[in-house]
Amino acid sequence: MAIILDGRAIGAKIKAELRADIEKYVHEQGRPPGLSIVRVSGDTASGVYTKAILRVADEIGVKARLDQFPTRISADELRAILMQLNCDNTVQGIIVQMPLPGHLSQKMVADMISSSKDIDGISPRSAGNLFLGLPSFLPATVAAVMEILDRVQVPLEGKRAVIISRSNIVGKPLAMMLLQKNATVTVSHSHTVDLAGFTRQADVLVTAVGRANMITADMVRPGAIVIDVGINELPGGGIVGDVDFTHVNEVAGAITPTPGGVGPLTNILLLKQCVHAAWQQVQDRVHMKGEVSIS
Ligand code: NAP
Repeated sequence: MAIILDGRAIGAKIKAELRADIEKYVHEQGRPPGLSIVRVSGDTASGVYTKAILRVADEIGVKARLDQFPTRISADELRAILMQLNCDNTVQGIIVQMPLPGHLSQKMVADMISSSKDIDGISPRSAGNLFLGLPSFLPATVAAVMEILDRVQVPLEGKRAVIISRSNIVGKPLAMMLLQKNATVTVSHSHTVDLAGFTRQADVLVTAVGRANMITADMVRPGAIVIDVGINELPGGGIVGDVDFTHVNEVAGAITPTPGGVGPLTNILLLKQCVHAAWQQVQDRVHMKGEVSIS
């Protein structure tokens, strides 16, 4: 049986660490880090996600608020709101809930959010920094996967990592992070020929496809670490990942369950990046003051 990589237990530890860090921030700065969740109308899933972020923020002491706008808001109005939030010194992190209505472009939003407040790593600047190996905010799911690997103290150097996804929010940024850790990374996708031939070589296998039970036990190398990002609703109710957990559990060395693996960590990591952004903005102000007093 594999070691279960329990996202809820890891999450509880991170929340305790964050509470202590936020107390320190409040003590030094006189107010908690602030987060704005911008939502334009929105679907049920994004509503659930928003509520979950607000709940975790409340638990750890981040002052999060929902900035909700009607579907008819124009691109110019949304642009102006984002500019205002970029300048608002009570807001250290901004996220914009997807999907947006058809007349609003995700690219415009990504371009508008200040990279210092882009805690979900959606801006081209964040993606560019990540590509260049510079410090950068990560899409929260990628941050969650890296946190799991970090917490279980998996040495990634020299390991063969196979990612099934090349999406902008999971596969590509995760590949960059695993490369930074000196893993040898293969990125696979829907056109990959002989997927199992790749997955069977993986010391670390990460799947983020959205297809229930597509990773079967014969596709997994004995002892591999298997991280399941996929979320699939079953027709009869309930949620499973991409991995056939029952059987892969017998082969893998360590495995994330679904639910209870990557999912519960995603919001916590988003807030961790918000707290990090808050500290970073304090440092930036100190540097700016130093530069002004020198000149
Ligand atoms: P996406 O943009 O649709 O990406 C899916 C990826 O899977 C694509 O790269 C696609 O390849 C690849 N793929 C599809 N069918 C495949 C196949 N038969 N063999 C190999 N690769 C295949 O989806 P996403 O937004 O990244 O989300 C993916 C999954 O992760 C979903 O289940 C989503 O619910 C879940 N998710 C979970 C969290 C979390 O917090 N746990 C967060 C985000 C997403 P192509 O590029 O060739 O199409």
